Amino acid sequence: MSFKLIPYMSHPNTSSPISVAIIGSGPAGYTAAIYAARAGLDSVLYQGIQPGGQLTTTTEVENYPGYPTGVLGSQMMVDFQAQAQRFGTDIQNATVTTVNFSTYPFQLTINNMIQVTAKTVIIATGASAKWLGLPSEQRLNGRGVSACATCDGFFFRKQEVAVVGGGDTAAEEASYLSKLCHRVHLLVRGDQMRASHIMQQRVLQQENIIVHFHTEVQEILGDQEVTGIRLLDNQKQTTYELTVQGVFIAIGHQPNTQLFTSYLELDARGYIQTVAGSTCTNIPGIFAAGDVQDSIYRQAITAAGTGCMAALEAERFLAAQG
Ligand code: NDP
Repeated sequence: MSFKLIPYMSHPNTSSPISVAIIGSGPAGYTAAIYAARAGLDSVLYQGIQPGGQLTTTTEVENYPGYPTGVLGSQMMVDFQAQAQRFGTDIQNATVTTVNFSTYPFQLTINNMIQVTAKTVIIATGASAKWLGLPSEQRLNGRGVSACATCDGFFFRKQEVAVVGGGDTAAEEASYLSKLCHRVHLLVRGDQMRASHIMQQRVLQQENIIVHFHTEVQEILGDQEVTGIRLLDNQKQTTYELTVQGVFIAIGHQPNTQLFTSYLELDARGYIQTVAGSTCTNIPGIFAAGDVQDSIYRQAITAAGTGCMAALEAERFLAAQG
């Protein structure tokens, strides 16, 4: 099939490839954009369907250095965007819908219609927390419902919270919260946890963590903020309510790699595999930064750090090409 280049709306030079195409608009994408633009590279950042990424769904961010009194996640992403724009990054409120990495320059389709080419691509599409799918969970998101204890646990100091899930993430979140909160209810839908033995032991030995097996969430209660949770004991088929101020959903994350599966090497969990200590993927010129390649740290600051690395590596790649 022949490839047709269709001029792109506001990109200044559509006939030649973009030097750095950045896919994603969280801390990794914007940091990559700041570094690429300051290196004098023409770069275009495609924001995707959720400009700002996961941080726009949290409330206050208090652990990002440089904001001594904290900042709203959404405001922080506005600041990141402004900083990237200040140095000339072309920020497009558009979505990359397909990619072709088997040809060079690489080809990207934008919004299913427009095609552009790029000499390097930085993938910063992040990961999405899995949710239970309850309307009350959505309604109270950011008002007591969270998918990140490290981000939001601090707001529930000395309070009573619930963590949903039985894997390592849930066990880690429960352990973390047990140091801040008065009591933590860990809600496991089956008769055992899936977490590693050591994490299970840690949770079971912690006095203020109460593990509820055979327990499913039916509803998160509260009007303006979380006041409790209605649970189903799926063994006895009875329901009961717990009074909690926070509910942490820890049933796993899904890296946003659907576009790249036929080109890039992924690990067993679907995260993009990068060469240790770098953001290089198995295709020279394609780099991955942030949560899309990080199942361990998943913090804004680590995402920003790898965004910086990706831009520096893209710059070196382009320089080596002459
Ligand atoms: P997992 O897929 O391992 O576990 C998900 C948990 O959530 C399971 O207990 C599952 O229950 C439960 N769950 C899934 N859907 C629902 C639902 N709709 N309602 C209620 N419960 C649900 O995800 P994790 O994020 O915990 O871990 C992912 C991977 O990352 C694992 O390999 C883990 O080992 C690793 N990891 C490692 C860490 C470390 O080494 N420090 C830290 C965090 C994660 P069920 O078992 O019944 O399916």
